[in-house]
Formats: sequence, C-alpha cells, structure tokens
Amino acid sequence: MERDIYLSLIKIMKKPLITKSVKKNATIFTVVLFIGYLIFNFFTVLQINYYFIDNVDTRLKHEVEHISVNIVFNEDTIVVLNGKEFEEFDMLHISDNSFFLQIYNIDKELLFQSKNLETFQNLPIRIIEFDDKFLFTNEKVDFKGLRVCYSKIINEGKLLGYIQLATPKTSVNSAIEGIISFNLLTLPLAFILFLIVSLIFAKRSLKPINKIIEIAEEITATNLSNRIDYEADTEDELGRLKATLNDLFNRLEFQINQISQFSDNASHQLMNPLTAIKTELEYILKKERSADEYKETLETIDEQTSEMINIVRTLLILAKDCAVCTDSSKVFSLTNLLQNEIMEEDKNNRVTISIPENIYLKGEADYFKMVLENLINNALKYSSEKSEVKVIVEEKTNSIIISVCDNGIGIPDNEKSKVFDRFYRGSNVESNGIKGHGLGLNLVKIVVNKMGGSITIIDNKPQGTIFTLEITRLILE
Ligand code: ADP
Repeated sequence: MERDIYLSLIKIMKKPLITKSVKKNATIFTVVLFIGYLIFNFFTVLQINYYFIDNVDTRLKHEVEHISVNIVFNEDTIVVLNGKEFEEFDMLHISDNSFFLQIYNIDKELLFQSKNLETFQNLPIRIIEFDDKFLFTNEKVDFKGLRVCYSKIINEGKLLGYIQLATPKTSVNSAIEGIISFNLLTLPLAFILFLIVSLIFAKRSLKPINKIIEIAEEITATNLSNRIDYEADTEDELGRLKATLNDLFNRLEFQINQISQFSDNASHQLMNPLTAIKTELEYILKKERSADEYKETLETIDEQTSEMINIVRTLLILAKDCAVCTDSSKVFSLTNLLQNEIMEEDKNNRVTISIPENIYLKGEADYFKMVLENLINNALKYSSEKSEVKVIVEEKTNSIIISVCDNGIGIPDNEKSKVFDRFYRGSNVESNGIKGHGLGLNLVKIVVNKMGGSITIIDNKPQGTIFTLEITRLILE
C-alpha cells in the first residue's frame, strides 16, 4: 500500500507541470488574445476621437450659424453688422475653448477678426472650394492643433467670402493621449493576465486527454482486458480517441491471445513427436539390443523427425501469413505439377487425376504443391485404405476449378467452416484414431486466398467430401 502511494507520488513528480503542448497552446491563445486586445483598443481610440471631434464640429457649426446672422450684403460686398456681437469671452481670450474667428472676402481681404487673434496670430486665410455648407479641416498653427470650420458667404448665388472659425483641439488630444497612455501602462498587465488565463485554459483543455492517457497506461501496465470508460460524446474528438484506443486494445488483446494460443498449440503439437522419440530412446538404451531393434528405433525417430519438420515448416509459413505466396511474377504449370510431381508421390495408386493440357497458374509452385498435397493426403487419410481419390481440373472462361473428391468419413455440416481454423480437428476424426495436427487446411486456405482464389467444401454422394478450389486462370499468349 505504502509502496503504491510512493510510486504514484514519483509518477506525479516526474510529470512536468507545464508540458510542451500546454506551452504551445498557451502561447497561441496569448498571442491571439493580445492581438485582439490591441485591435480592440485601436478601434476604441478611433471611436472616441471621432466622438470628440463630432462634438467640436457641432459647437463650431452652431457658432458659425450664429455669426452668419450678423452679416449683410451691399451688392458685391460683405458688411459685418455689429462686431460687438462677437465679443464673447471665448473670442477675446486664449483658452482650450476659445473661438478664433476671421471673416474675409474672396480677395483675401480681412473684414473681421476676433480679438484673441491679435495675440494668437498666423491663422492662415484660405480660399477653398467645397460643395457642402460647411468644411472642417485640421490645422497646425504655432504647434497648436486646431479644428477649423469654413462656411461660404453667398449672395444671390455668388460667392463673396468666407467665415473661418477655429478652436483648439487640446481637449480632444489630451483625452486621446490619456487613453493611449493608460493603454500602454496596462499593456504588460494585460499580457500577464492573458498568459495566466491561456495557461489555465490550455491545461484545462488537455485535461480529458491526460485522463485518457492515465487510463490507457493503466490498461497496458496491468490488465489488457480493461477498457477506457471515460464519459465522452462519440461524435467529438475525445469520444473518437476513446473508441479508437478501445478498438486498438480489442485487436491487441485478440492478437496476443491468438499468439499465446498459437504457441501453446504449437508446443503441444511438437510435444507428441518429441515424447515419442524420447520414449523410444529410453526403451532402446535400457539394455543391449539386436541390430533389427536399433534399426526399428531409428526408423521411428526418422518418422517422428519428418513429422516435426513438417509441423515446423507449416508453422513457419503460417506465422508469416504466407507473405511469399503471392509472387505474381512467377508462373507454373499445374498440369505438370499434378501429372508428374503429385502422381509420383502416390505410392499406392489410389489417386486418379484428370486435367487438360497446358494449364498455368500465377504464384509459387512449391506452396501450391503443399496445398494439393494437403488436400490429397487428407482425402486419402480420411477414407478407407482401398478407396479411390479423384482430382478433377476443369477450365472455365476466367478460372480453373480443382476438385479433390473422396468417399471417406465426411465432414459434419456445422464443422465445414471450422475445419479451416488453425489447430481445429473434426469431431469424427479422433474416434476413428486418425492422426493429425489441424494445420493443413489453415495453410491451404491462406495460400489459396493469397493467390486470389476461394475454397469450398461439399458432401460427396453417397459419402465422402469434395474440396473445390476456384483460382483465376492464366491464359498464355
Ligand atoms: P489434420 O488433418 O491434420 O487434422 P487439417 O487442417 O488438414 O488437419 O484438417 C482439419 C480437419 O478437417 C481434420 O481434422 C478433419 O476433421 C477435417 N478434414 C479435412 N479433410 C477431410 C476429408 N477429406 N474428409 C473428412 N474430413 C476432413
């Protein structure tokens, strides 16, 4: 118990607090938030500036309209009625709210000027073209930012002069400057805040993945039959990750079980001939034996060794899933293989072969020979000693049909698909005392499938079995 706690503590301590992924995500979040913050501030300043300027313009417009009332026309000339009207505080002194007023004709002759312009000189007199009633501009006079409003003086459609009214932008500028310096000051603070928020967010977003990793680690370390039971929506990434991992564990468990079953069965199959050899040797070595007895023992050992070689050879092919069986560049003559090589092995003349001339197949002849040997040997093995086994090859338009027919013990219907499983032996064979390892048909199926063919089993009439292979035909030009 204490050891478990100690191990979990070490495990926790070993884990970095901020992993590379968290750092990466947090950096991206921070940069995005920070850029967003800068853009937001920029537009806020623009908006505020616009709002202040709009206020100033309304003030200027209002004042210019008031001034216009005090102007009369004498044919082509402008007369300013009562200059005293313009002696308000804002036109006499210089302050942040002052108005600087100039009224002039199109020859740039000044007709009126507010008192404060005697001190604050240099406001330029301009003749400007514009269509609207008012024109607003920004000017800089003696390093002072001004908002200037121009209004045309028109009599009977004729332009006679301009009213020019300016006011300092000091209040607008200082407000904007205030906002900008506040923003600059809070920038580092905002950055730190964004960084912390991003770190927390990045860590939180990876939390479910960490949970799944923990469970997966536990599964691989302790029990492969456990599964990730983390609650997650099957549609989202976490749900799919969970499903994919569970699927992977299923396949792993299945494969591992298969491998262990395979090695169990393989050892078991090899154990029989090895035990037979051992028993034979123990018996013969007990005392001095005759030459005939020694010969007999050596023959038994030879027989058992051949059996073991056969088993190991088959197991080697099966373990690699017969990767070499599909060499499509190779071609062999089925007619030759059956009529010569297979026929030679038929010592008891029980096999009859019927095959047209010049039948060729694509693939490795050695492996296909093993297929035929397994089917023919089974047909011989599972039928009475004198009965005949027929191998019939027929041509179809695109394929070759090979049938191996016997009159033997047959295969029960419910076992016809199972006999291809590795190490499977029929329920009726043990009672008949027929020896075998349950590997032959598995090899047959793998090789035939690799060659793109198929295999089926049907009952022979009145008794026995017919194995039928259908393989794509190779037509040589
Ligand atoms: P083995 O013959 O060594 O047992 P196989 O893989 O060649 O292994 O065959 C698997 C099983 O299929 C056999 O145990 C047997 O039950 C059945 N079988 C195969 N061929 C025949 C056949 N021609 N007639 C009857 N049963 C057969």
